[in-house]
Amino acid sequence: MDHITANEIAGLGVGSFLLCATIYAPKVDAFISNSQRSSLGMCKRCGDLRLIACTGCKGTGRVKEGGLLSFNMLDDLYESLGGESTVKTTRCTKCQAKGSFCCPDCSKLRSV
Ligand SMILES: [Zn+2]
Ligand SMILES: [Zn+2]
Repeated sequence: MDHITANEIAGLGVGSFLLCATIYAPKVDAFISNSQRSSLGMCKRCGDLRLIACTGCKGTGRVKEGGLLSFNMLDDLYESLGGESTVKTTRCTKCQAKGSFCCPDCSKLRSV
């Protein structure tokens, strides 16, 4: 039991360090950016943009009809090559085609 080699200790240390880094890095990062934002007096949710991009249409205000993912991928490629899209787009109902929402945190704070 006394004969743990330096290599084993180093291996264990590096292994647990990597594990901790993998688990905690995103949390630490989020914590730091949140505290930075609040120390700057910025909104934690949107960073004072007062807008949050719509996840339904990715901020474009329009979504493609049909929802055929594989087909949409080919269509995107076709469009990027200069072709005319064969897929109809429709107004995003999630954001009323605005592409973004008013930040609920900011609108709460600043509507007073
Ligand atoms: Zn939308
Ligand atoms: Zn905000």
